[in-house]
Amino acid sequence: MSIPVFDGHNDTLTQIHNAVGEEARNFLERSDRGHVDLPRAREGGMAGGFFAVFTANRGWEREILPVTGPDGAKVPGAWTVPFPPRVARSTALAYTLSVMSDLFRCERAAGGAMEVVRTAGDLERCLADGTFAAVLHIEGVEALDTRLEALDVFFEAGLRSLGPVWSRPNAFGRGVPFDFPRTPDTGPGLTAAGKRLVRACNNLGVMVDLSHLNEAGFWDVARLSQAPLVATHSCAWALAPSPRNLTDRQLDAVRDSGGLAGINFHKGFLRSDGDPKSPASLTEIARHARYVADRIGVEHVALGSDFDGAVMPDDLPDVTALPAVVEALRDAGFGEGDLRLIGTGNWLRVLRATWHG
Ligand code: ZN
Repeated sequence: MSIPVFDGHNDTLTQIHNAVGEEARNFLERSDRGHVDLPRAREGGMAGGFFAVFTANRGWEREILPVTGPDGAKVPGAWTVPFPPRVARSTALAYTLSVMSDLFRCERAAGGAMEVVRTAGDLERCLADGTFAAVLHIEGVEALDTRLEALDVFFEAGLRSLGPVWSRPNAFGRGVPFDFPRTPDTGPGLTAAGKRLVRACNNLGVMVDLSHLNEAGFWDVARLSQAPLVATHSCAWALAPSPRNLTDRQLDAVRDSGGLAGINFHKGFLRSDGDPKSPASLTEIARHARYVADRIGVEHVALGSDFDGAVMPDDLPDVTALPAVVEALRDAGFGEGDLRLIGTGNWLRVLRATWHG
């Protein structure tokens, strides 16, 4: 029996928006480019997910630099990636509105096949009747002003989830760099505006995503937020010491809040050596899910693919291979009830507790 999967994170909207020439595609039409479109999502049993809007630094190339030890020698298997420059609010605001428009136009053109969900009731209905359910998410809120006026407007438009930071610093906090190996304890936590943002999200019923936040920021949210703690697309640090992954202490806090960790499919976060260029099987996803479930319980495990934003395992070319991920979870000892929880049940519980309605 197939298990529907609600996905914690994808960069499909942003990828399609930015695609030009040969790479151009339409979410509603089947393509062989990228990881997700509606026909392929249906085939793979993806019931919906969080659709991220992410303002990238135009023209910025990720620079991977070696790490040197105290003796000046290169540390094998270690690297550091400098942050890109900050993004101006005006740039992020214009870009975010543009990509949100893509999503709403897509919803209108889909003729009822997909819906931008705004309540847990919407999500439950979509899961029951097979309507593809998209949650609007902003990854890195450079588009917001620190008085949070734009937040009110975005909320009314349908925003139900945000990550205060992508990895680069902004007015609200600081994210982790893409260094390896490193702990997520990489600097100061949320700014005063970041703390106001968490409270405002609680008041409105907007989920605060902890993926990409550094550890001090994580603990700031843990202290301030009344909602379950959710990291939508992060793996277990104990298995792969990337600062993008969650330490055991962070996982325990997710459990204690009744929250969720969505296992990321990115090879660089799954592999113990952090190398996205070396081979990895989708069984690695099950290995991380098993670890997290054994530590904090299956009620706190979900999937956060990072489709269209990350390097997938070699046997996971796109969303149509999602049933093979479910199969790998089954092989890792998860029963049918567990798989229903990981696929959709845990998300419904957490979003009912987070959203107002
Ligand atoms: Zn991300």
